Amino acid sequence: MATNSPNRAVRSIAIVGGGLGGLSAAAHLVSSGHQITIFESDAHLGGKSSQFKSNGYTIDAGPSVLTMLPIIESIFAALGEKVSDHLDLIKLDTLYRANFASGNDPYGEGSISVLANHDQMVDEIRSISGQKDADAFIRFSKFLKDLYDSEFNQFIDRNFDSLFDFLKPIAPTLNLVKLGAFRKLNSIVSDYFSDSRLIKLFSFQSLYAGVSPFEALGIYAVITYMDTIAGVYFPKGGMAQLPIAIGKVLAEKGVSIRTNTKVASILRSNGLSGAVTGVQLADGSRESFDVVISNAEAAITYKQLLGHSSPPRKIAKSEYSPSALLMLLGSKVKPTAQVAHHNIFFGDSWKEAFVELIDEGRQMTNASTLVTIPSFSDPMLAPEGGASIYCLEPVPNLSGKIDWKNERENAVENFKSSLRVAKVLSSDPSDIEAEKIIDPLDWQAMGMEMGTPFSISHRFFQSGPFRPANSDKSIPGLFFANASTTPGVGVPMVLVSGRLAAERTRMYLGDR
Ligand SMILES: Cc1cc2nc3c(=O)[nH]c(=O)nc-3n(C[C@H](O)[C@H](O)[C@H](O)COP(=O)(O)OP(=O)(O)OC[C@H]3O[C@@H](n4cnc5c(N)ncnc54)[C@H](O)[C@@H]3O)c2cc1C
Repeated sequence: MATNSPNRAVRSIAIVGGGLGGLSAAAHLVSSGHQITIFESDAHLGGKSSQFKSNGYTIDAGPSVLTMLPIIESIFAALGEKVSDHLDLIKLDTLYRANFASGNDPYGEGSISVLANHDQMVDEIRSISGQKDADAFIRFSKFLKDLYDSEFNQFIDRNFDSLFDFLKPIAPTLNLVKLGAFRKLNSIVSDYFSDSRLIKLFSFQSLYAGVSPFEALGIYAVITYMDTIAGVYFPKGGMAQLPIAIGKVLAEKGVSIRTNTKVASILRSNGLSGAVTGVQLADGSRESFDVVISNAEAAITYKQLLGHSSPPRKIAKSEYSPSALLMLLGSKVKPTAQVAHHNIFFGDSWKEAFVELIDEGRQMTNASTLVTIPSFSDPMLAPEGGASIYCLEPVPNLSGKIDWKNERENAVENFKSSLRVAKVLSSDPSDIEAEKIIDPLDWQAMGMEMGTPFSISHRFFQSGPFRPANSDKSIPGLFFANASTTPGVGVPMVLVSGRLAAERTRMYLGDR
C-alpha cells in the first residue's frame, strides 16, 4: 500500500453515500492518509444492497448475483486485507438454472443448467442441444474471454478525459473490431449457436445494462462473460454482508462512518459556483472538506445537493433502464420444482418482449423473470423447512405506461400465480409468512431517478467515454462514484467507479 508522504498536508474528503460506490472510493483512498468521512442517510451501509428481515426470513432486497471476484478482492487488497478473512464466499457450482416456457408451461421447452465447471458445461450443452452447440460453446467461451481482456482496461477500468480516449491505445480497440464486438449481440450469439434456448441464455444479460440483445452491441457480451464464465458467488448471510464487511474494515482503518446522517447540500466557494468547500447536513450544520465524492445518482446530486434547476444536458437527456417489480417472500415450504440458487424463467416470447418492455413501456406479456433462493445456499436465511425467495420481474421505468397505483395488485398476483404454476410457491397463499413488494413507485420514493434502481441505461452513447463523467470541470473538488457515472451499473461496475473517483481525488489533491 502506497501511503501519503509524511511532508504532505492531510486533507479532508467527504463521501456522500455509503453505497458500494462510496465504500469503494473510501477503500481506495485509505492508503492516502487523508481524513475520510462517509455520510449515509440510511441506518445501514450498502445502499441498494440492503436486506429484508421478517419472521425468521432474511432476503436481500437488491443485488443477488455476485460476479467478478477479482474486483471484490481488489477492494480488500487496497485496505491491506484478504476477502476470505472478512466474507464467507460460496462459489456456486450451478450459476443459473434456466427454464424455457412453452405457452403456460414454464418448463415446456426444457431446462438448462449453467455450470461453473467448463467441461461439465460442455457436457450439459452436448446432452441438451447436441455436439455442434457444445463445440460452439468452447469457441464462444474463448470469444468472451478475448472480449473481456480487450475491453476491461480500455472501456471499463479507466477514467476518460475526452471522447476519443477509448481509441488510446488503439490496439485493444482494433482487437474489439476484429472480434466483431461492434456487431449486434443477438447476431453474434446466433452465429455460434443453433439452439434458440442457448441464444437466449447467452444474450439476455444485456438487459442488466438496460438494453435489448437486439439493440446491444457485442461489447455487452462482457456481461455474459461475468455472468456465465467468470464465476458467481454468494456471501453466507446474504449479499448485504459485502458492504457490511467493507464498512467494518474501513472503520478499523480510521474512516469516520456516520449513518443516519443526510447531506442536504454540497457547499461551494461562491454559493452556487466555484470549488467545493464542504457539506451542509440536514440538521443545518456545516462541515468543511477539500473534496466531496458523491455516491448519490448524478441527476440527484445536481438537483438536490447542488441546487441546480436541472442537471447538465447530457444527464437530463439520458435514457434510463427498465425497472423491476421485486417480491421478497418467506415461504414455510420449499419449492417442489427442481431449483438452483438462481433460476431464470424465460417466457416464450423473446424479441417482442423487449419491444413491449423498452420501446412501448408496457409489462411483458410473457415475462422472463429471475427467482433467487438464498436459503438454497445458506439454510440459516429461512426457518427450518422453509425458503427465502427473491423474485424479480423486469418492468418499465416510470416513463412507461403502467399506472402502478392501480395495476400493482394485479401485477403481483399474476407474478405469484406464475410461480405457483412453476411450483416455486405452493398453491396455499397462507404458506407465505413474510412478504415485501417493491414496485417502480417505491424505487422512486427511495430517491431513484425515473423509478428504476438500474439508473441510466447502457446504450452505446451512454457507455464508456459517452457516459456522464465522474468529474465536472466547473466544480473543482467534486467527483462522482455511483452507477450513473463511468463505468456504470452493477456491483462490479460501481466498485470500479469508486476506484476511478479515488484516482481523480488523488490527482486533484496532488498525491501523484
Ligand atoms: C433489485 C435490484 C437487483 C439488482 N441486481 C443486481 C445483481 O444481481 N448484480 C449486480 O451486480 N447488481 C445488481 N443490482 C445493481 C446494483 O445493486 C447497483 O448498481 C449498485 O448497488 C449501486 O451502487 P451505488 O453505490 O451506485 O448506489 P446506491 O447503492 O444507491 O448507494 C447510494 C447511497 O447514497 C446514499 N445517499 C444518497 N443521497 C444521500 C445524501 N444526500 N446524504 C447521505 N447519503 C445519501 C443512499 O442512501 C445510498 O446508501 C441490482 C439492484 C437492485 C436494486
